[in-house]
Parts: sequence; structure tokens; C-alpha cells
Amino acid sequence: MKTFPFILFMFLALISCDKHSGHSKMVKGYWGHNTSASSVSPELKALLGHVKKNMTYKICLANYMVKEHPGIENELRAAINIWGHYIGRKINISMTKLDLPETELTGPHPGKNFYYPLCPPGTDLVVARLAPSDASEVGQTVLRYDNKKFSRALFLRQPHKDQNGWLTLSEALNKELTEDEIIEIYKKRDQTIYIKENKLLTMQTILHEMGHVWGLCDQYRLDTESGTNCDPNFASINEEGHIILHDEATMAATHWHPNLYLSDDDIEGIRQLAERDSFVHDWKKEVREIPVNEISGPPPIAFVHIKKSSYDGHLFTIDMMLVTHAPIKVKMRFWNTVKNAWINFENSFSIPDSAEIFSFHYSLRMDRDYPFSKVELTYEVNETGAKDDSRVIKVENILRVPVDTDEHQQENE
Ligand SMILES: [Zn+2]
Repeated sequence: MKTFPFILFMFLALISCDKHSGHSKMVKGYWGHNTSASSVSPELKALLGHVKKNMTYKICLANYMVKEHPGIENELRAAINIWGHYIGRKINISMTKLDLPETELTGPHPGKNFYYPLCPPGTDLVVARLAPSDASEVGQTVLRYDNKKFSRALFLRQPHKDQNGWLTLSEALNKELTEDEIIEIYKKRDQTIYIKENKLLTMQTILHEMGHVWGLCDQYRLDTESGTNCDPNFASINEEGHIILHDEATMAATHWHPNLYLSDDDIEGIRQLAERDSFVHDWKKEVREIPVNEISGPPPIAFVHIKKSSYDGHLFTIDMMLVTHAPIKVKMRFWNTVKNAWINFENSFSIPDSAEIFSFHYSLRMDRDYPFSKVELTYEVNETGAKDDSRVIKVENILRVPVDTDEHQQENE
């Protein structure tokens, strides 16, 4: 979240990070390259863009990361090589896992100085974890180098107190995944994950951080004077000379419904990097013929989930999550335990535009204490005749116990 130009003598340190954002807005914009992409010596593997065909990229990974985040090794490998796929590069990776200690150190980039000497000589990237940040930062990459050597680290932050931690792709999809299987998912460009538990997807942050390690900049505004870590010579500039950012990219902030693919903007950014003469090395400069699958857009009602609902005899409240891409009408009905029947509720409400809401509260004061035990919400695309499966979704939730769970007694009105 912060660019930290730490200049003393021959040293230059750069921090790039991934930020958590609860919402996103559409900003027309394009790719950009990190300022480090011009200043780092092409002779070093400080950037993945400088790794040649016969080189092996050496990662030093803390064992506690392996233990606590199942499948993280393959996520790291895949995160490097998904970017590589779109420029025809396959990076050889070696992974050394060590019982590194956890650090509670604070400061601008404590982890790298703490971890780097503990890893084998020649390590290219240390991967570990840092204490929570006071800001919304969830991941961080740090680069430090002089003309002869460099050190680089990638960190995930410990969760903030309002977060429930991290979720790996294997955990989210409930299966073990190889590096190639992860790459295949991302190449297809047809999947989005909706995370209910207020957790963040490790893969999304790792992919963002690896974007920095390749040489790309952040596509969200930083809390610094310049507001960006993009090189103005390698980014899109608007009429006023400001760098245009792109909120939909993997290089933008992360959120609770990450796309399992790189955006067109990300792909354009890595290709522009691969085509820069200083990054070609012994790879092919022509990368445009590599096929890119079209993104298959989500259905109009992409995701709905009721987190919590209650009725105390007076007040009915509901807290739901929803991601929609069209105007939606929401209808409600309640299960009456005395009548053994669904009672349609005459009021409905509308979501006029598309929405990405992590917590949508709705409450209703009833005129008396009804024997309601369940609620059912029907989300419908607000268009006449729209009745196919992707356009109507029903979700049911318990209001209070005891509950009649006999589904077959429902009566449609
Ligand atoms: Zn970043």
C-alpha cells in the first residue's frame, strides 16, 4: 500500500503491496510498470522479468506457511508461471522450506532483513508472514539491491482483527491442486470465488505480489505524495498527465469475490514488459500470438447468501451478501408454523443497479408477533419474462427455533 523509496548510498528499497478494499468502482485505465522495472540491473534476478531460460528462481519458504496454508507452494509456483504463460515463459523454480521463526518486528520492511540471512545463499525470494498492518495492507513485496547483490521478500500479513484470516485456493475449492491445475483454472478465465467467511484468498494476494516481482505497478491509488508506484514512461497517462489506474485488475486492490484469472489489463501489462528490450533476454519477443481466452462473464445474479436472519416477535432483520450484475427485485415469504404454510410478504425491494455488497442489512418491524420460523428470499432479475435458472435464485434461512423443517409441506400461493 505504500511505496517506500528508501535511498541511502548505493541502496534502493522499494515496497509494493496489496490492499484490501470493500468496494470497487469502475475506472477506465490500463497497465503500468513499477518504477523499479527501469532502475534494476538486468544482470540480477531482482525482477522475474530478468530471469533467463537456463536460470532457476530460488524461493525460501517458511515452514509455518506450508503448515498453515495448505497448497501454498503450488500457489507460489503457479502465480509466477500464470504471468509467464502470457509471455511464453516458464520459470524454473526451486523451493527450500525452512523452520524459520515468526517475526513480530514492525517498521517499513522488517521481515526481509530478519529472514534473508536465515535462507540459503543465492535465495531470490523469501516468502513468510508479517504482523498485521494498521492499514488495509494484506500483502507486501520488498526489494533491496545495489549493483552487486539484492534481496527480495514476499509477505502475507497476519489477519487484521476484523478478518478471519486466509483461505487457500485448495481450501476454497476443497481439493488439492497441482501447479498445472491452478494454471489451467486461471487460463480458462471463467471462475470467480465468493468468500463468505470474511477471509482473503492467498492466491489472489500472491498473484498480485508476483505481479510486482515481475515488474508491474499497483492499479490503485497509494497513500503517498505521488499516489502511484507506476513509471510514467510505462503506464497510461490521461490528458492531465496523471497515471490512469484500473480497478478491475489483479494489480488493483483485493476483495471478497476475486476472479480466478488475470484481467486483460494485467495481460497487456506483462506483455508490454516482455516486449521492452531490456526484458527480452533469451526469450521470444513476439508474445502476441499466445492465445488469451475470453472472460466468460458471471450470470446476472452472481452470488447471494444470507449471513444471518432473526425475528424476535417484533423486529425482523436480515444480513445478506450479494453480487449482482443487473437490476434485481427481492421478494420475501415466511414460514408460518401454526398454519404450516408459506405466507407471502407483500412488500418487495429492489436493487436498481449491479451491486457488490458484503453486508446488506434489511429490517422490518412487524405489527404483531407472528409464528414465523423461516424466511425465504427470491432474487429475480427485474425484467419481464426472465425466468431461467440464472435469473431467479431462492435462499432460505432459519429465523428462530423450534423450526419446522419439513420442506414438502410448503404451499405456493
Ligand atoms: Zn501492490
